[in-house]
Amino acid sequence: MSKKIAKSPDIRSGRFAFVPFCLFAQAFQAKGLVRDYPAQITPVVEALMASGVNIIQMPCPESRLAGLAREPHGYKWYDQDAFRSVCEQAAGETVEMMKTILVKGYSVAVVIGVELSPSCSVLRQFDRRRGQYEQSGWFIQALRHQMRAADIKAEFIGINRRFPNKTAEKIRAFLS
Ligand code: SF4
Repeated sequence: MSKKIAKSPDIRSGRFAFVPFCLFAQAFQAKGLVRDYPAQITPVVEALMASGVNIIQMPCPESRLAGLAREPHGYKWYDQDAFRSVCEQAAGETVEMMKTILVKGYSVAVVIGVELSPSCSVLRQFDRRRGQYEQSGWFIQALRHQMRAADIKAEFIGINRRFPNKTAEKIRAFLS
């Protein structure tokens, strides 16, 4: 008589975090900007992993426009039609992925950005003349707009690159 082997239960998480491409691949950053973590921003990655969310990398709009190891440019430089259409396309791909997730009954828990990035910042930009000022990046603007149109809601948290442990604490607190 053959014994039935009990199947172990499916324990998958139904929560998703959407993260900037460079969180896992710092080589996608513009020249001169990678100073603390050579490949992954470890405290933020560890906080996400400890929270048990599925992690989806969003496209990197700047590298789509200007390639890897490009010169760094500010918010105004990226104010160009070609870049806006790159951001719209990247936001569209991201929202399609979100819809695929939501239709299965899973949830989009959080979208992670990168503060001071002309593309991926959630709250703040930097300008030599003005210092820091409130303005989200071009990609995040396009993403928020397309998420609103699709009635998708999620928390946005921006990575503070100087103090990534603070961002990690925020993520842990939000996802716990
Ligand atoms: S555009 Fe966004 S994903 Fe690409 S390197 Fe800059 S912050 Fe990272």
